Amino acid sequence: MRSKISPAPADAALRRAAKPTIVYPASTMPKPDMAALETARHTMVKINEVVVAPRNARTFRVSRGQFFRIVSIDGPQVGDLNLWNADNLSERFFSGKTRALHATHVSAGDRLWSTVPFLRPMATITHDTLSWYGWDSDGAGIHDVIGTRCDPYTNLLLSGTRYDFCCHSNLSRALAAELKMEPCAVEHHVHDVLNVFMCTGFTKDTHQYFMKASPVRPGDFIEFFAEINLLGALSACPGGDCSMTHSSDVAACYPLKIEIFEPDRTALGTWNWPSPSEYHRRHGRSA
Ligand SMILES: [Zn+2]
Repeated sequence: MRSKISPAPADAALRRAAKPTIVYPASTMPKPDMAALETARHTMVKINEVVVAPRNARTFRVSRGQFFRIVSIDGPQVGDLNLWNADNLSERFFSGKTRALHATHVSAGDRLWSTVPFLRPMATITHDTLSWYGWDSDGAGIHDVIGTRCDPYTNLLLSGTRYDFCCHSNLSRALAAELKMEPCAVEHHVHDVLNVFMCTGFTKDTHQYFMKASPVRPGDFIEFFAEINLLGALSACPGGDCSMTHSSDVAACYPLKIEIFEPDRTALGTWNWPSPSEYHRRHGRSA
């Protein structure tokens, strides 16, 4: 892909031999009490469910302390998830920082972090029936925070065609219905997603983002604990299992189900509800 390669300096090998350092070591991160969450999830009772039709999106609300699942039904299907603070849409899921803090793909024990200046866990992943997958021989994993979401702008740029049911459009329509506004008036709230059930990685030779058929099967689910009041939106991606193509009506697509659960709150004990970051926000300017 690169059109011109510069000549290597004499000490190129030495420079390349520098040892990698984990940018944000896991040991420095505040850890959720997974034992308490495990106890609580065994007490939970389903209180609501929402089915997302293929090539469409739906919103859902989850109160702080509730659990929610995204469940595969009918056939292998990838979902694009957006999360907002239900009380303030300017606080939303921060895919890039979640990737930096955890990894390119997330699973049980990882948390979904919110944008600055809030930067707090919005949700903690409490169960993942696909955690057995790990990393395959292509370097791929499940539930990525690498991709952005399929969108009609990139599709027009690359294919010259207009397609209206990309995840960005689906999420925009769903949020517009929730807020009783037009999609174009709310699409700036739509943000980089958690690619639920999506199997992705970077090619070893060119480091390009790739996708392959999701191993998800009906009955599989990923489960979250809501750390704050959440407004969520989930799109059933037009790519289906994302084995071949997206941004069109070509792939076989299936619905996804969102299930919301209420636990016995006493099982949570004195849960440490996350507050927005306490950074003073002066950014070097004297007060
Ligand atoms: Zn999509």
